[in-house]
Amino acid sequence: MEGIATVVKNSGSGYLLSPLPEWAPFPAVVRGRLRLSVKGTTNPIAVGDKVRFTGGPDAGSAPAGQAGGNSDPAVITEVLPRTNYVIRRSTNLSRQAHIIASNIDMAFIAVSLYFPELKLPFLDRILVTCELYGIPATIVLTKTDLYREEAAEEMDHVRSIYEAAGYRVLETSVRTGEGIDALREACRDGINLFSGESGVGKSSLIKALDPSLDPKVGDISLAHLQGKHTTSLYEMYPLASGGYVVDSPGLRGFGLVDVEKDEIARYFPEMLKASAGCRFTPCTHTHEPGCAVKAALEDGTISRERYNSYLGMLEDDGKFR
Ligand code: GDP
Ligand code: ZN
Repeated sequence: MEGIATVVKNSGSGYLLSPLPEWAPFPAVVRGRLRLSVKGTTNPIAVGDKVRFTGGPDAGSAPAGQAGGNSDPAVITEVLPRTNYVIRRSTNLSRQAHIIASNIDMAFIAVSLYFPELKLPFLDRILVTCELYGIPATIVLTKTDLYREEAAEEMDHVRSIYEAAGYRVLETSVRTGEGIDALREACRDGINLFSGESGVGKSSLIKALDPSLDPKVGDISLAHLQGKHTTSLYEMYPLASGGYVVDSPGLRGFGLVDVEKDEIARYFPEMLKASAGCRFTPCTHTHEPGCAVKAALEDGTISRERYNSYLGMLEDDGKFR
């Protein structure tokens, strides 16, 4: 057999491929060398990759179930072009990076207003990283049962900041079931990356979407993910209601990415939009006269919080993670 399938698991020694949308994983290997498609990365194949393969499930001549029939793994011959991908450096100092997932349709960034407390600059860095990777993002405000009554105003405030910036904000609670149907609906059609700080309720959400799934990543400490063999932790799961989930523990280490200072604002969608009206190009939107971003800040179209996050990233010299 020959065909195209999607990588759903990297087991370390090999891969599992699935002919999505049908979920029928079968083993595959790489023989010899595949050309590294992204410079500076150690793994040529990532979960989410569409690959061309030969051999595999129907290739044997013996009838199914008989020895020698279906046991040979498929051989991956080519990785098809990616629409996007997420890179993680092996260590802070390393120049080597792993592609941990690719072809993501939506990144769901789980944050909780409290427990753990939401830090907006942290969320903004994640959102900038998603923009940088070309991955659309949705914010999921988790554990609303714990603070909806006490913090209704803060919730509205956070929602309005991110909706104004162009992001969808979902509010969920696995205790009351709030928002779970909406999340399930949003996941139905594609490959969805779930990410967020440990403890925000990511695994609980995935379990609520589909009780047959139990990612248990809450127990894996980030320290274990800094090593070389992190890619085998990435796996795609099918949701019974449709769509697929890639669980990405500890998104904090997503990208130690170098971005030029005058490029950072481009990854704030609302600033990118406003900057068309700036008198100078490039404009850092800090001191330049005739800056449309600052005008939008004054009239409230751009939020003070988002702008402050932007200034923080400028101060970090564009190096962030
Ligand atoms: P993860 O580390 O992001 O995967 O977080 P977990 O799913 O393991 O959840 C961390 C803790 O928060 C656990 O004790 C969960 O029971 C709790 N939790 C998760 N979701 C909710 C929720 O919607 N409401 C409440 N009250 N607790 C939650
Ligand atoms: Zn400007």
